[in-house]
Amino acid sequence: DAVLELNGIAKAYNKGTPGEVMVLRDAALRVQPGEVVALVAPSGAGKSTLLHIAGLLDTPDAGTVAINGQDMTRLPDRKRTAARRNDVGFVYQFHHLLPEFTALENIVLPQLANGIRRRDAEARARDLLGRVGIAARADHRPAALSGGEQQRVAFCRALANAPRILLADEPTGNLDPATSDTVFGTLMELVKGTGLSALIATHNMALAARMDRTLRLENGRLA
Ligand code: ADP
Ligand code: ADP
Repeated sequence: DAVLELNGIAKAYNKGTPGEVMVLRDAALRVQPGEVVALVAPSGAGKSTLLHIAGLLDTPDAGTVAINGQDMTRLPDRKRTAARRNDVGFVYQFHHLLPEFTALENIVLPQLANGIRRRDAEARARDLLGRVGIAARADHRPAALSGGEQQRVAFCRALANAPRILLADEPTGNLDPATSDTVFGTLMELVKGTGLSALIATHNMALAARMDRTLRLENGRLA
């Protein structure tokens, strides 16, 4: 069974006004267990819109989003929020870490919010930081970390609550090419090492080639 399945997704902005933009029309995709799928399209094609819908951060005008076979589109708000917290990990181009908290705390806090005990949350956070090679940075605040280290912490935070699927929107897009290459390698090792499924948007074809499969977003549809 697919971990993530989208069918018939449509989305327009500024509906019914002269500024109406039809971003997605009849978009469909499946991500299988353990699969890492690249979502490739030029800027403005609707990658962020698609990821936000897949991650239950935005609702489509039409179509369904299913995670592990469960249709999320018809869930009541409270259950959708719970599913978003438990089932989906999100990584953005910019890290969005909380600046006043250390790397460790940024990974611990979402777990505490999910009812995990502090001791267990810290152990998991330290394990994750070790996996991405920055155990020694646990007590640093984001401003004291390099761009690549900040993104590594953001990866750990996205995995903190052991989601079913990782959604990433240009996860290394704000890094210089050499750093991007290395940090992307770390992300792939982390995802493959935990057996996680992922959908990763990029316009970098070399990065897309390192994933299992590529989906192209063109004219609001996926090929
Ligand atoms: P991508 O991530 O591929 O760059 P986006 O999903 O961010 O694409 O945007 C797709 C199109 O929808 C763009 O033309 C963008 O300007 C437009 N768009 C995105 N968000 C909004 C919004 N909240 N309101 C109006 N237009 C939007
Ligand atoms: P990304 O790098 O993810 O494609 P964008 O610059 O396209 O980011 O969009 C950043 C934010 O602004 C998103 O939340 C998106 O929905 C919103 N946005 C993008 N284009 C428009 C637009 N034309 N009008 C209003 N909001 C927009």
